[in-house]
Amino acid sequence: MLKGKVAVVTGSTSGIGRGIATALATHGADVMLNGFGDGAEIVRVAKDLEERHSVRTGYSPADVSRPAEIRQLIADAQRLLGPVDILVNNAGIQHVAPLEQFAEEHWNAILAINLSAAFHTTKAVLLEMKQRHWGRIINIASTHGLVASAGKAAYVAAKHGLVGLTKVIAIETANDGITCNAICPGWVLTPLVQQQIADRAQGGGMSIEAAQRELLQEKQPMLQFTTPQQIGALAVVLCDDATATVTGAAWPVDGGWTAQ
Ligand code: NAD
Repeated sequence: MLKGKVAVVTGSTSGIGRGIATALATHGADVMLNGFGDGAEIVRVAKDLEERHSVRTGYSPADVSRPAEIRQLIADAQRLLGPVDILVNNAGIQHVAPLEQFAEEHWNAILAINLSAAFHTTKAVLLEMKQRHWGRIINIASTHGLVASAGKAAYVAAKHGLVGLTKVIAIETANDGITCNAICPGWVLTPLVQQQIADRAQGGGMSIEAAQRELLQEKQPMLQFTTPQQIGALAVVLCDDATATVTGAAWPVDGGWTAQ
């Protein structure tokens, strides 16, 4: 279905981004990986995608908090794989603290990585998508792009901003064969959430299993984690012709969290 398409997935060396990169490759897309991590493991993942799915891959270690590195990431993807057809803005970080204790550097980093990066990547690919009259832009927001939680000032502000940016891009590209949508996951068991579970277990003097249960019970009626594979499957659906008129939407994948 996506044979011949070129995808860039930011933050695809782990968690949800890796799930999305795998799903896109499974459907035939060539994929530019990005993110931090162990070099040998990243090479292994890329080779595995190439061999299993007969696709091409590339990797960029660009730090998406830096606009110049983002421009290099897109330029490298274009040089290695060709014009970018599918852009997935997924890289993200989290920091939890009450507002009065929220360090300025955490605020700046979260805004840069979780929000501004999507502005810079989109700006770098949009002209070519318009010229080719086809493009899919998928922004990985969060339930926190739709509702708030205490302690997550920067994350909630960035994710609400990302949902807003998604709508603007959708309107500006409405007649260019391009769609732009946000996916808003609830809890997905990745290193980003494992850290929050570990902090909760330590803070409350409980086991990891008890902290996981408490985390789910607090917000999410469906007491199970969504998997990166399930988020990847939705990303593929948003690239299909069947959803060619779905744009500017924010898709909750949250076990009922935002239905309450
Ligand atoms: P993760 O920590 O497993 O993966 C984050 C990825 O982003 C990694 O590949 C990491 O290397 C990369 N990254 C971080 N900073 C970067 C930077 N400056 N430049 C380039 N890459 C960078 O986390 P995840 O849970 O898979 O999160 C992926 C996205 O999903 C994030 O935007 C997150 O906010 C969002 N999300 C996650 C959940 C969840 O429950 N896990 C829920 C809602 C939304």
